[in-house]
Amino acid sequence: MDKKTKIVVCGAGGFIGGHLVADLLRQGYTNIRAVDLKPAADWYQPFDQVDNLELDLQEKEACESVVAGQDVVYNLAADMGGMGFIELNKALCMLSVLINTHLLVAARKLGVSRFFFASSACVYAADKQTRPDVSALREEDAYPAMPEDGYGWEKLFSERMCRHFTEDFGLVTRVARYHNVYGPHGTYDGGREKAPAAVCRKVIGAKLSGNHEIEIWGDGHQTRSFQYIDDCVLGTQKIMESDVVTMPINLGSSEMVTINQLVDIVEEIAGIKLERHYKLSAPKGVKGRNSDNTLIQKLLRWEPSTPLRVGMEKTYRWIYDQMTSAKCA
Ligand code: NAD
Repeated sequence: MDKKTKIVVCGAGGFIGGHLVADLLRQGYTNIRAVDLKPAADWYQPFDQVDNLELDLQEKEACESVVAGQDVVYNLAADMGGMGFIELNKALCMLSVLINTHLLVAARKLGVSRFFFASSACVYAADKQTRPDVSALREEDAYPAMPEDGYGWEKLFSERMCRHFTEDFGLVTRVARYHNVYGPHGTYDGGREKAPAAVCRKVIGAKLSGNHEIEIWGDGHQTRSFQYIDDCVLGTQKIMESDVVTMPINLGSSEMVTINQLVDIVEEIAGIKLERHYKLSAPKGVKGRNSDNTLIQKLLRWEPSTPLRVGMEKTYRWIYDQMTSAKCA
């Protein structure tokens, strides 16, 4: 894309949106509009040199005003969080359909050339994720549909809307199914955090307090793959710019670990061993999930490759700095 391309990033005050704006600036893009519902003071990575707007994208008028005059739209705005949030806030998750609907309608009406939608591995059918030793999920495994209740249904519906806006109206859309993304400058407490950040926070808390115990949600045997933020941001742009990725595609790591192994990694980084307590009643999601990267390798000759140990080290350091500086303040 030309460096003068007019790009709007929706959800720019959030984790992935903030990293995307940072990366676009690093590459020399000069016409970036960043939009989020949160006040600018709460954005993870605010940048003075972009057009920052605080707007509620569930409103039709707001969507029209941010899309007006723009060439491309990255839609990363959603009311979401980790399992602890999405299992207990299904209606709020589903209301993100308003953001996706109004943005798509505005993009079509105002002649946007490309539209990116951040979907999720939560669209995949639950019956394909019932064991820790699952087969990695291929794109066709989303159907017959039985996604995560609430959040997953909304993502699957919005994917479908993108597809039909392309087929019926000619709007070029790109959809990535993100598998767990982690890294610095994201949520690590408050209830919306995901497993990698939550484990870092708990291990750091134990290290700082001297109480060498940790609570783990579930039995620790559930499996996942975790994608480092730099891979997510690069993959997002590759998918957006591709002329061959025309259907929803996995964007995730294929390095599968159990939650116990994730805790092992963080303990090793922290240099401590903790007594583990398993909370079986906590929200824990599916038993096993991994990303099959055959399609992305075939179409883009690329896949996320940052080793979990490397990404977790950077994430741990950032959360440690946040927690210790917050303590001093
Ligand atoms: P995030 O919560 O950090 O960022 C989302 C941002 O959207 C937030 O800053 C929030 O304030 C904003 N937002 C919510 N409602 C809004 C509204 N009505 N108007 C304007 N802004 C609004 O989440 P993230 O991790 O950066 O995720 C970005 C996208 O990627 C989301 O669509 C999410 O569903 C998807 N996704 C993320 C992951 C992951 O592991 N982080 C995995 C799968 C899919």
